[in-house]
This record gives sequence, structure tokens and C-alpha cells, in this order.
Amino acid sequence: MQCPHCGASQHRVIDTRDTADAIRRRRQCEACGLRFTTYEHIAANLLVSKSDGRREPFDRQKLLQGIQIAATKRPISRETIEGIVNHIQEQALNSGKMEIPSTVIGQLVLDQLATIDQVAYIRFASVYLDIHDLNELRIEIDRLMGRN
Ligand SMILES: [Zn+2]
Repeated sequence: MQCPHCGASQHRVIDTRDTADAIRRRRQCEACGLRFTTYEHIAANLLVSKSDGRREPFDRQKLLQGIQIAATKRPISRETIEGIVNHIQEQALNSGKMEIPSTVIGQLVLDQLATIDQVAYIRFASVYLDIHDLNELRIEIDRLMGRN
């Protein structure tokens, strides 16, 4: 875990508390002094099912990174991206299911990006929906335009 300001990985926990579905830790960066909050969601048992039938543990970090890449140089804060992932985890937890299809995760991300940033939406869609050519991309852009 890295400081959102300077990227240093040395920080200390100054406060820890349990919420309904997460452990909330207040941290302070030892390099720059920034205070920030992290959430450890109790979704360790959540499984993601792939289209080929394989299952793997939900990887919060991987999903965060995927969205982060789509949001490169876009005016989307780290908190917004974490909010997207938190929302998905909450939906999964609230549904009471221990398994969520990867396609549903992708769609949930897209639903949120559609209202946040259209460029990030298209970038994420092109990776997540495995868009191969301009025609497929145009279909997705039309779908996005149709929402608004
Ligand atoms: Zn720092």
C-alpha cells in the first residue's frame, strides 16, 4: 500500500475501527506526513467466476489498477476510483452471494464510469469487453451516448 500523495510505502496506523463490512484504518505517511484512510473489506471470501467457468478470489487491487489505468490523465480522483470498487464490493456483500461473475463486475464498473468520465468508460470498456475493432468500439460508444 502506497501513500496517495508521495507513493512512499512506510506509514503508521493512527486509528483502527470496524464498520459493518470493513476495517477502517487511519494512516499517516512517514515520508510526507499525509493522513489517509484505508478500508479492508471483509470480502476475502468473495469469488469471481470467469466466462470459462474458472473461479478466483476477488482481487480488489487488480480491479483498482484496471480502473486507474483507464482513468490515466483523466480528472478522476483516487477516492472516486476506490468508491467505485467499494460500491461493487458492497453490492456483492449485500446480495449475500459469495460469487460474482466477472462480467457483472465489468458492467458495474461501466455503469459508474458512464456517469463519471466517458473517456475512462471507453478505455475500460475496450479492455474489459475485449473490443477488437473500431466497429465494436462504435457500438459501445453508441451505447454510451444512448444513456445520456
Ligand atoms: Zn507520503
